[in-house]
Amino acid sequence: MKALGDIVRENIKELQAYSCARAEFEGTDVALLDANENPFASEYNRYPDPFQRELKREIGRLKGVEVSRLVLGNGSDELIDMLIRTVCTPRRDNIIVFSPGYSMYEVCGQVNDVEVRCLELDEEFQPGWNTLFDSVDQFTKIIFFCTPNNPVGNVVPLERIREVALRFDGIVVVDEAYIDFTDMPSAVTLQKACRNVVVLQTLSKAWGLAGLRVGICVADPELVIYLNKVKPPYNIGSLTQRRALDVLRNEADFLKKVEAIKRERKRVIEVLRDLPWLEVVCDSEANFVLIRCERFRELYDYLVEGDIVVRVRHIPPRLSCGLRITIGTREENDLLIKRLKKFGDL
Ligand SMILES: *Cc1c(COP(=O)(O)O)cnc(C)c1O
Repeated sequence: MKALGDIVRENIKELQAYSCARAEFEGTDVALLDANENPFASEYNRYPDPFQRELKREIGRLKGVEVSRLVLGNGSDELIDMLIRTVCTPRRDNIIVFSPGYSMYEVCGQVNDVEVRCLELDEEFQPGWNTLFDSVDQFTKIIFFCTPNNPVGNVVPLERIREVALRFDGIVVVDEAYIDFTDMPSAVTLQKACRNVVVLQTLSKAWGLAGLRVGICVADPELVIYLNKVKPPYNIGSLTQRRALDVLRNEADFLKKVEAIKRERKRVIEVLRDLPWLEVVCDSEANFVLIRCERFRELYDYLVEGDIVVRVRHIPPRLSCGLRITIGTREENDLLIKRLKKFGDL
């Protein structure tokens, strides 16, 4: 493990961050003539808090994490891009991703002109632990793990991730977009021993706020300082900060919905396992289930005709003929099940 300061790009380390006019002020009774805002009071005439302090306090409390370890993004997609820009020098460095997996890592790598080394998951949809470091060189800056995995739904053992982080001279990003649907502990628990582990979570899935765009990054405080230099100062609007806070303060409602989705997941998987013409790839620990069937294109069209949209995940060689189906409401799932059974009878 290298010192974090030696992983970060030199120009970012030296960068003087854009300083917001009002970083030290929290809405008191003064004349705010520093930011060229419109003085006529409305709900949104002022710029939002660039460090989202109130929202971070609530997130920190919920997750048991110090505020100094948090960076919030306009969705975790923005954080993926920020991480790559903070540590990878374009046209020199590279990142490692796994397939099948979430495709944004690769897209962000390409946008930033950073080489993407894509490794196949094994038959159990796990990273090849014994061969992973064959693909690592001195310019490898980030390894992305996604657990629970999208689109498979299985989890990666934290112990393995820990071993990689201890041996690796770059950043290990653990994308936990679906963590609330599993009992697996968060990789945040690795951060004491491994300062190079960065955890991504989001309010888009279990918290039901995909339209708001709030992503959460938990990282070492030193890395947070560098990330904040790269972060656009006002990346999360005040309306979003306000609404997110309201929702986070109603944890009971969140827990109820997550439990309902987990119950439905169990029911849907049981029904699907009884259909001999399709394969349920694994007991998903996320809010979707991945199935495989030879006639997947036909099945996709048939579902669309029945007003059901699912996601085709045909990603050979490891994952061919896949469809990823999100767990919906009880009614939506009933509709899906009915339609699937009918397809089997055709
Ligand atoms: C949905 C998803 C995200 C995106 O989250 P946003 O916060 O909505 O940008 C990130 N990672 C994975 C694996 C996802 O499935």
